[in-house]
Amino acid sequence: MIFTSLKKRITDHCRRLGRALRRFCCALTDSRLSLVRVPRPVGVGILLAAALVLISTAFLDTGLQVYANGTALGIVETPAEFEEIVSSVERRASEILGYPYRLDLDVAYKYEMYERNDYFDAAAVEESLFRSIDEIVPLYVLSVDGTVVGANPDRDAISAAVEEAVSEKTKGGRPAISYELLSDVEIDYVYTDAASSVSIDEIRSELSGNIRNEVTYTVQEGDLFSDIAASFGLSVEELQRLNPWIDPATLTEGDVIVVENAIPLMSVSVDRLDEYDEVVPYETIEKYTSSMWAGESYVETEGSDGILHHTDRVEYVDGVESGRISVSVTASKEVTNEVIVYGTRNFQCPVKSVRAITSKFGWRTFGGGSDFHTGIDLANPSGTPIYASYDGTVSFAGWKGNYGNCVIIDHGYGYQTLYAHCRSLVCKAGDKVAQGDLISYTGSTGRSTGAHCHFEIRINGDPVNPYPYIFK
Ligand SMILES: [Zn+2]
Repeated sequence: MIFTSLKKRITDHCRRLGRALRRFCCALTDSRLSLVRVPRPVGVGILLAAALVLISTAFLDTGLQVYANGTALGIVETPAEFEEIVSSVERRASEILGYPYRLDLDVAYKYEMYERNDYFDAAAVEESLFRSIDEIVPLYVLSVDGTVVGANPDRDAISAAVEEAVSEKTKGGRPAISYELLSDVEIDYVYTDAASSVSIDEIRSELSGNIRNEVTYTVQEGDLFSDIAASFGLSVEELQRLNPWIDPATLTEGDVIVVENAIPLMSVSVDRLDEYDEVVPYETIEKYTSSMWAGESYVETEGSDGILHHTDRVEYVDGVESGRISVSVTASKEVTNEVIVYGTRNFQCPVKSVRAITSKFGWRTFGGGSDFHTGIDLANPSGTPIYASYDGTVSFAGWKGNYGNCVIIDHGYGYQTLYAHCRSLVCKAGDKVAQGDLISYTGSTGRSTGAHCHFEIRINGDPVNPYPYIFK
């Protein structure tokens, strides 16, 4: 019964649809396709209807259109789909701004016919909502070793400020031959708080600043360089490296010395050529000759210091020397060693032992007056042997006025020795004698007050003090 009724209703429906299509097709045939013969207008009508249904179901649909502040954003299945996007945008914004951010949206949903390709593009809608936030803008954010320095919309200006700051750090001191930025500098394009945008001047100022400023100490009276180093937990070498221009030996009250180096925001290594002269002190070379008497010497060659010109390549990290290699060493002035020639000829005391030196060389009071004593008096018992003081030739042996019995030996090079007041002589003029040969015996002949040997050394006829020659 139900089926019969259903069948009748379907049949009626088809009949009505058939009639309608027939009318539609006849109308088409009558009005526009009159030249075309339509033998079966019903069949064609069905085909056209099917095509229309197919077209409408393929391109059009009904759905929930989202309106935000009056602008259609697309069709969603449920409002939750759009609300989730709003939440996501608000989360991102809150994270960047540092406070809970809410989008100011007037949202409405309406059922509408829409074309199939007018789908809701979630990613595009989210990006569009995000970019609509005035408080967040895309900026170039400069960071040095992970620390944000500042943000600015002009990437080229930031790069130029970095270049300028690095170049500034290579100035001062000797010209830089190379430099290297040791810090990790990054410029990232990111959406960030519009309020964080700073001027290029501010970025420039930050880049030339320090993370830690240098710490100095003013030298007090009595301070030693080593004590200052110790009190700041530094070795003397470390303190010297921090103060390359300070000479610890001439540390003066009031001097300001660096005890902690500044740590700049940007670390730069600079290589410079360091040129300096090193004085090479001359050495003294001794030469000996028997053509001169012991105690005599002369400078054969005057010594003069040499100069070595050094060129070093020095690496400075943030102004502090961190490495040094020698590039070249050239002698800008050769060293000349000093040569001194010393004599080896030596006089010996003419008597084996001396009881007393009864009169020295020089001015003395004698017999109520004063005279110059041209030798020394070596007192000994009469008859004590007298020996030649050095090799030579006897030039005189005999009586010589106040000298009494006297021997003079010529030693060459202008040197003579004289032995006076002898009791007896055992040589004669012309005899060749060697050092230590017996020549006479002590006595008290001539102008003498007791037995002794009056001994003289003469250089080119002038008596000199014999004491240093025979008693060393
Ligand atoms: Zn004398």
